[in-house]
Amino acid sequence: MNIVLIGPPGSGKGTQGERVASQLGLDHIAMGDLLRAEIAEGTELGGEVAEYVERGDLVPDELILGIITPRILAAVAGNGYLLDGFPRSVPQAREARRFAEEMGAAADLAVYLDVPHGVLVERLLERARTEGRADDTPEVIENRLAVFEEATRPLVDYYRGRGLLEMVDADRPLEDVTADIIRLAEARGTPAPPRSR
Ligand code: ADP
Repeated sequence: MNIVLIGPPGSGKGTQGERVASQLGLDHIAMGDLLRAEIAEGTELGGEVAEYVERGDLVPDELILGIITPRILAAVAGNGYLLDGFPRSVPQAREARRFAEEMGAAADLAVYLDVPHGVLVERLLERARTEGRADDTPEVIENRLAVFEEATRPLVDYYRGRGLLEMVDADRPLEDVTADIIRLAEARGTPAPPRSR
């Protein structure tokens, strides 16, 4: 089973990604965590991506694809993936699909975590106070939300058009959100019943 989690900053992709992946035995691939790890380790790649992450802008696709492709391939050699933070634009989704279909690595389900705008801002500002993530300042939060609207939200129609989209109300207790995602995954993962003659 291969799942893509989509949602604005603050919608809980990271938290749900971890919970769902561990309960379903999938590889959790969190794009933001991978980028922050490169930056923290001071790699050459980390140096190239840092300015984008600090501003809350999208990192160029060729850098993103270079990081994510080997991880997707490793995940599909096992039980599958739960992607959080990738794809983040329609061009990224198209590019991923091009190689994924050749490798049997295409997504089976895309879950959109739906949270009202005001709640997102509150959650992000609260996280800024407690965790001190460098891109959780008010200006950068505003930019990340704007980038989401412009680049990432169009993925809703993209995945809906491919019959893969499910919306989940993510302004609820986190256990309830996890349970919904797992139920949707199980519904998709069950083979269709044999057709009666
Ligand atoms: P959030 O969704 O809460 O903003 P993430 O940890 O998913 O946080 O991402 C943090 C930052 O990493 C983004 O603002 C962006 O700069 C960069 N980033 C993450 N995923 C991608 C991607 N798929 N394409 C381009 N940039 C990305």
